[in-house]
Amino acid sequence: MFIRRATREVRIGKLVIGGQNPILVQSMTNTDTRDLHSTIEQMNRLTDAGCEIIRLAVPDREAAANLQAFVRASAVPLVADIHFDYQLALTAIEAGISKLRINPGNIGGSDRVRLLASKAKERGVPIRIGVNAGSLERELLEKYQNPTPQAMVESALRHIELLEAENFTDIVVSLKASSVPHTIEAYRLLSQKCDYPLHIGITEAGTWFKGSIRSAVGLGIMLAEGLGDTLRVSLTGDPVREVEVGKEILQSLGLRSFGATVVSCPTCGRCQVNLEPLAEKVEALVSGIKTPLRIAVMGCAVNGPGEAREADLGVACGKGEGLIFRRGEIIKKVPEAAIIDTLEEELRQIADSVRLG
Ligand code: SF4
Repeated sequence: MFIRRATREVRIGKLVIGGQNPILVQSMTNTDTRDLHSTIEQMNRLTDAGCEIIRLAVPDREAAANLQAFVRASAVPLVADIHFDYQLALTAIEAGISKLRINPGNIGGSDRVRLLASKAKERGVPIRIGVNAGSLERELLEKYQNPTPQAMVESALRHIELLEAENFTDIVVSLKASSVPHTIEAYRLLSQKCDYPLHIGITEAGTWFKGSIRSAVGLGIMLAEGLGDTLRVSLTGDPVREVEVGKEILQSLGLRSFGATVVSCPTCGRCQVNLEPLAEKVEALVSGIKTPLRIAVMGCAVNGPGEAREADLGVACGKGEGLIFRRGEIIKKVPEAAIIDTLEEELRQIADSVRLG
């Protein structure tokens, strides 16, 4: 339905992004990366939640010294996030990191860029240039007066040129701003100027509720325009929620399938069962299902039978009861108290392999 923008393929460890490869969900630990135990514990939680690439902040040598252990412990490719210090970047490459996030214009001159590019190339480590509206170069702020989308793009192109000058093209770019319209505009502009894969996100989006909505709006628009090869939802709080929201955004657009989708109606004056707890129980029941099933939980006979019939499994409720549909057929009518058990039983039958949450 959406035409992906053609980007170059870039390998990140065992994964390939760009081109027509799946758009991958990325997150970042918020633990102190000098603390091996808590960081590995969070990396595992992120991986269990479906995070496909994990970024780690590497603020100093103590954190960098842990990178080898992080690489060994991780089931997914790791990205080392480094600012200014090219030696930390070299340590990260030696440690076996799958990708670097560093802006070559900030590491102190062409000799260091040359060395970093040659080491990264030797080890097949791509570099993400991450432009952030909050940390643009002073001369660009003076030129554009504000961190405008044009200023962000010019910053990205400058960093890109430095790497290209060293014949290094394993590049991924991100252009993050907390303003949704600015971010979208910046990615649109950059996508007209180069074909490097894009890591998309709305930075500093906020806490769970507002941050999820702002991310869904921003990322949704860009994805629908074919922009984006990896994404991160940035939320203040547990990064596992970033993964859950990121997966839901991709699944909502039909770009990835991560498991079951529950369709439930908002209820209205026609509903004669207590639908909200029922829908929540069904959500919990299917949370561990990896099979792309569609489950409909509907409040009455107006739209209920239509939605339930289109689903793999559905219930259209009436007065204190539910009509159960399985793959288009009515299979039984049960009292309200038996609806959830009936749905669970039917789900087990639909796929023996279905693991219920
Ligand atoms: Fe109302 Fe029925 Fe529609 Fe649910 S399915 S919102 S109860 S009309």
